[in-house]
Parts: sequence; structure tokens; C-alpha cells
Amino acid sequence: MTEPKCLVNCTIPVKLRDFLKEKGINRSELFRKAALRMTEGEICPYCYNTNIDDVPKGLICRDCDKWLKFNSCPLCKANHNLMSGVRDINGKIGCDACPEEEEKKINVVFGDVQR
Ligand SMILES: [Zn+2]
Ligand SMILES: [Zn+2]
Repeated sequence: MTEPKCLVNCTIPVKLRDFLKEKGINRSELFRKAALRMTEGEICPYCYNTNIDDVPKGLICRDCDKWLKFNSCPLCKANHNLMSGVRDINGKIGCDACPEEEEKKINVVFGDVQR
């Protein structure tokens, strides 16, 4: 899916223009990148819609279903990825990588009870 494009005029200092020319930096690419960076999380860099949801796993575009950013799990600090899931761990928001750690804690408690 390709978004229609348009021409925008912008005014920049001459020295900056010369610098960009010298560096061979494509102005269209530069403008697109800079604009997206300045508004990160507000507009989708894939489909350019603004229907973005802030969920525990990260930021997702509801129009094209692409992830814009992944958070790290607040409990085990693991980074979320495309395949990772969010799950409830004792009333807190955890992730797929959490359970092993939680199981260990439970075993420790049982050990204390048996003594
Ligand atoms: Zn999108
Ligand atoms: Zn976790």
C-alpha cells in the first residue's frame, strides 16, 4: 500500500541547504524521517494513520496492526516482541517470560510451610 505523495515547500537557512546538498542528503527522505521522529507514537510510520493504541505491550497501529514500539515487562524487564504475550501475574501485568520466576517464589513459600 503506497500513500499518495505531495510536494511541500519549506524555508530553511541557506547554509543548512548547502550542508545537506554537500552531504548528498535527500530532502524528501530527511523531511519524512524528521517529521516522524518528532511525532513518534502519534502517527504510524507505515500507513500514516493516527489510530494508535497505547497498550501494556507497547504502541500498536489499529489501522495496519503493526507494532510501532515494544515496552519491556514491568515485572521481569524482558523486552516484548512480536510473539510475546501479556498475562496477569498475581493481579499485576506480566509477560510470557515471567512465570518461571513466579513459580520459584511459590516453591520457596511451600518449602517454608513444610518445615
Ligand atoms: Zn499503521
Ligand atoms: Zn515479564
